[in-house]
Amino acid sequence: MNVIETKEMMLFVSKKMVASEPHLTKLDQTIGDGDHGIGMERGFKAVTELLESDYQAQDVSKLLLKIGTTMMSTMGGASGAIFGTLFRAGAKSIKGATAFDTPTLSTFLANGLQGVYERGGAKPGDKTMIDALVAASEEAQTLEGDLATNLPAISKAAMLGVEATKDMIATTGKAKTLGERSLGHPDPGAMSMALILQFMCEFQTEQLAA
Ligand code: ADP
Ligand code: MG
Repeated sequence: MNVIETKEMMLFVSKKMVASEPHLTKLDQTIGDGDHGIGMERGFKAVTELLESDYQAQDVSKLLLKIGTTMMSTMGGASGAIFGTLFRAGAKSIKGATAFDTPTLSTFLANGLQGVYERGGAKPGDKTMIDALVAASEEAQTLEGDLATNLPAISKAAMLGVEATKDMIATTGKAKTLGERSLGHPDPGAMSMALILQFMCEFQTEQLAA
């Protein structure tokens, strides 16, 4: 995928994330303070506006960096910093990339994860978006070849990561006050992480094939 197709994919992802607001709100109402859906909606609305404007990214790295900066400056909350950092740290690690392919996504996820670790201090098992991101990143490292072929496995791994957060007790963020009552419910940020990858996958399989 070249930079223009990547921009189209991210516009598709952004609109789908905006439409996911009720789902994400519900999840955060269950184990957090209920604002996660609104935060993601605000961030991805701003990204949608950016990508529908005449903004032209020079390469894939600059595109994803700009998306991260936009999220960070519009979202607020823990997830603004966390998802903004994922995109910004991930983007910086693929400097000059002219294509979005399996190695690019793999490098993006691994370094984005590193950035999130450094920014938020949470670790796997803490019931955060990290649990979906680690699963996706580890899966991506094992894959070679076509991105469209690999995205279903990467997005499925992230969804299994979300599933695993149901058995975790939140130790960070607003959900930590719930303690054991967060058991049985997935982490909203992990769901957002998995949805971003799922929508990338849908774009590849539905939109590009059409
Ligand atoms: P807030 O916690 O400020 O209400 P949101 O509700 O928007 O922010 O986002 C909550 C999500 O952010 C959580 O579900 C979790 O996945 C993620 N999160 C919170 N703290 C961290 C952290 N330190 N590292 C990684 N992700 C985190
Ligand atoms: Mg919240």
